[in-house]
Amino acid sequence: MYKGIAGSEGIGIGKAVLIEEHEINVEAKKVTDMDGEIARLQKAIEKFVADTTEMAARMDETVGKKDADILRGHIQMLQDPMLEEQISALMLNEKITAEMAVDQVLEQTAEMFAQIPDELLQQRATDFRDIKTRMLKILMGIEDVDISQVPSGTVLVARDLTPSMTAGINPDNIAGILTEVGGRTSHSAILARAMEIPAVLSIENICSIVKNGDEVVLDGTSGEAVVNPDEETVTRFEKMYQEHQNEKALLKAYAGQPSMTKDGTRVELVCNIGKPEDAKKAVECDGEGIGLFRTEFLFMDRDSIPTEEEQFEAYKTAAETMKGKPVIIRTLDIGGDKAIPYLGLEEEENPFLGFRAIRFCLKRKDIYETQLKALVRASAFGKIKIMVPLVTGVDELRQVKVMVADIMKEYDKEGVAYNKNIEIGVMMETPAACMMADALAKEAAFFSIGTNDLTGYTMAVDRGNAKVAYLYSTYNPAVLRAIKRIIECGKKEGIMVGMCGEAAADSKLIPLLLAFGLDEFSVSGTSVLKTRKIISDCDVEECKALADKVMKCVTEEEVLELLK
Ligand code: PEP
Ligand code: MG
Repeated sequence: MYKGIAGSEGIGIGKAVLIEEHEINVEAKKVTDMDGEIARLQKAIEKFVADTTEMAARMDETVGKKDADILRGHIQMLQDPMLEEQISALMLNEKITAEMAVDQVLEQTAEMFAQIPDELLQQRATDFRDIKTRMLKILMGIEDVDISQVPSGTVLVARDLTPSMTAGINPDNIAGILTEVGGRTSHSAILARAMEIPAVLSIENICSIVKNGDEVVLDGTSGEAVVNPDEETVTRFEKMYQEHQNEKALLKAYAGQPSMTKDGTRVELVCNIGKPEDAKKAVECDGEGIGLFRTEFLFMDRDSIPTEEEQFEAYKTAAETMKGKPVIIRTLDIGGDKAIPYLGLEEEENPFLGFRAIRFCLKRKDIYETQLKALVRASAFGKIKIMVPLVTGVDELRQVKVMVADIMKEYDKEGVAYNKNIEIGVMMETPAACMMADALAKEAAFFSIGTNDLTGYTMAVDRGNAKVAYLYSTYNPAVLRAIKRIIECGKKEGIMVGMCGEAAADSKLIPLLLAFGLDEFSVSGTSVLKTRKIISDCDVEECKALADKVMKCVTEEEVLELLK
């Protein structure tokens, strides 16, 4: 049994196809026919563009436009006139082959990006190395395994999955993926989940262990894989596979159904998204609205602040896609672990307790006003609600309300259309907001509980510190009390209370949340049907009886004993 990181859930059973990394040795050679060599380079670039365009088109169908655009970006990167100029100048000056020049220039460019202490820009280094490898293979006539042609029931085994490799995947033929590197948020994991292919990542030396044609079974939920399993193991995995398939088929029955408990309590089941295009996915997954649009993604992976127009288009797209269903848009939540280099924020000793989210926005009102203006304008196109992150007291909420009121006055003068009743709510994710929940509920239009942060801040735990990670648990009675208090305070003032942290999709916690009276559950698209099923299996009175017992628990262990 090999243990790795659970990258994408599901059971995979199949035969291994090893995606080998060819040794690419660029020979040092002098060129005599330089015109011919430059023509060879041009032909290779043309082939790269044609192949990539075709792969991106295929990827549009399998994983969606967003990821296909990463590949289209590779074309732009390679066709950058400066880069092409650099490659041909090096060839001419040094009289070297196209391979040598491509290798040197693209490696230098990748190295430059790799040095920048920013995760997103470092990702460009991977992109440039991917482009370099593919260009060298074209120039040297090296053919890779054609992933699009592998037989049904294939388990792909690779060091890592690059975007260009993934482009060829036909999800119907791939039973699973094993890799040597990558974590849950790596590109390969995100793509595997998007295609619903079970994946276990970061298994040490897996490419040396597995041979082509080996039998492989894997569990993408527990992160386990077995190579050439014995009969008993195969039977066990086949049983788990069947159970998983049955569960998936069963869940389909919940599509189009109301989100309602056994005894008829209706709740809202909405989705978390990061990009306007994700709203389409939310609709496909049967989400009843958007409970959290993390707008910081619009600010990431670029070199400047998105303009009011760009933001307006993004919010309008999400609102129109949801056709009048609620779309809760969280205003800029940066800082902490979400750095945006071009904003020039200083390094802080305690970034999670520092200049982030609403604290940053209220100091950089120029940036915040642009976002609020775009939001207010987009409110004319759907049911947009504004949510303020990391609130610690009513004064922050009031300041946002004043800013929105001023924008509305300006729009009235200019005759710009907007929704006069746009709701402004609070993301409840700090202990201070929890303590002030009674007061906040009087001034906020709604609450949404951010359990990811609320858990960390309530338990005073730095999630990056492995020594204290055991304390980071939403099952801790302290966190449960905080959640209960927030819901009760909201209910007392008659406002909607939702939850957009990971806990909203937690099967153990859903009965408690229903007992407390949570109105809205905001989960990832792939969790919608599962969450609806769990809700449908609950009876509120039974949940309340369970909650009474759970809330008497004083340790996490006692809580878990009851919830299991
Ligand atoms: C949360 O804190 O629970 C949350 C949903 O926000 P984020 O994970 O973006 O901080
Ligand atoms: Mg948060």
